[in-house]
Amino acid sequence: MTAAAVHTFDVERARRETPGCENVVHLNNAGAALMPTPVLDRTVTHLKLEARVGGYEAAALVAEEIEDVYGSAARLLGCRTDEIAVVDSATRAWDMAFYSVPFRPGDRILTSEAEYASNFIAYLQLAQRYNLRVDVVPNGESGQISVPRLRDLIDERVRLISLTHVPTNGGLVNPAAEVGKVARDAGVLYLLDACQSAGQMSLDVDEIGCDMVSMTGRKYLRGPRGTGLLYVRREVLDELAPPMLDLHAATWVARDEYRIRPDARRFESWECNYAAKLGLGAAIDYALGWGLDRIRGRVYALADELRLSLAQLPQVTVHDAGVERCGIVSFTVDGVAPADVQAALGAHGINVSVSRTPSTRLDMENRGLEELVRASVHYYNTCEELAMLCDVVRDIGPRR
Ligand SMILES: *Cc1c(COP(=O)(O)O)cnc(C)c1O
Repeated sequence: MTAAAVHTFDVERARRETPGCENVVHLNNAGAALMPTPVLDRTVTHLKLEARVGGYEAAALVAEEIEDVYGSAARLLGCRTDEIAVVDSATRAWDMAFYSVPFRPGDRILTSEAEYASNFIAYLQLAQRYNLRVDVVPNGESGQISVPRLRDLIDERVRLISLTHVPTNGGLVNPAAEVGKVARDAGVLYLLDACQSAGQMSLDVDEIGCDMVSMTGRKYLRGPRGTGLLYVRREVLDELAPPMLDLHAATWVARDEYRIRPDARRFESWECNYAAKLGLGAAIDYALGWGLDRIRGRVYALADELRLSLAQLPQVTVHDAGVERCGIVSFTVDGVAPADVQAALGAHGINVSVSRTPSTRLDMENRGLEELVRASVHYYNTCEELAMLCDVVRDIGPRR
């Protein structure tokens, strides 16, 4: 491996601080990454505190640390703390933003071929409810969204540009900042699904030019399951009416009157998993400690290495598209179903997953694909682990 990033990264330390590295070769980081020790400790410590003194009382004892989670998220995204909501998944974050957009009949949504199923299902639901048009911006030749085509599709009916930054099923990185420039020029709301990019590259909301960003805790950020983050730009907050409110998102001030809170926490609900929320904060701090640019350097280099090695196997086809390719590596093996590849790797303690058409239907159909093996690397993976994967894949080729 040639990239300097691979050599200057303290992998030893990363692995020492990742208990799961002792048990598995984890290449399912796009599903849920292995938690590092500080995340695990912070989460478990709070659960134990709840058991010892009571849940409300435990939350009161760590009130400041809970506030700090917002500060960590704001540092991650280059935004203000009052622009952050902590929720329980990326989907909930994205939904709260999307269903808050004040659509009018005839409005258009511009989106990409890489869209995640949950997003597209929501487009379809509101399209039927409000008579909206959902226009999919075609990809350019490289497989990333065509920014010139996006620009051509803008008119006064476009209410929202909604983009998946990195799709669930491959290494493509859509040019989020170039899309942001189009959104800014047109004065259109821009929602970015950064579920797979958060934690493997730096995301600055001003550089990207987006108004809303959703992300999850458990993937590249290495947080606990059941956590998600939403960023909403302060300037657009009052345009957005949350689809549901509770006594945390709003205050009941008189018999017939409520007031929505002024910050992005209007998208949260009162109840939450405090242990997980603190764990998410620890995960963000941990990622910032490594540095997102350094993480990206190592993740990209490992993924490139894996693509190159897999491509040398005659029975393997690597499917990642785009100009820039991230830590998600997608491939198929001639004559072997992806689920069988997954099972064979699993028998050797190597975790990967399978992406299927219904998760990213437009992209899969356009490329004539039904299922893919998804091997997603993180910085704590090693070249030896990638070689192990390739060895297993080499041996499961169709019997001749
Ligand atoms: C995983 C994923 C989601 C959903 O995240 P959850 O935390 O499971 O809600 C959304 N978008 C993309 C691109 C994803 O890969």
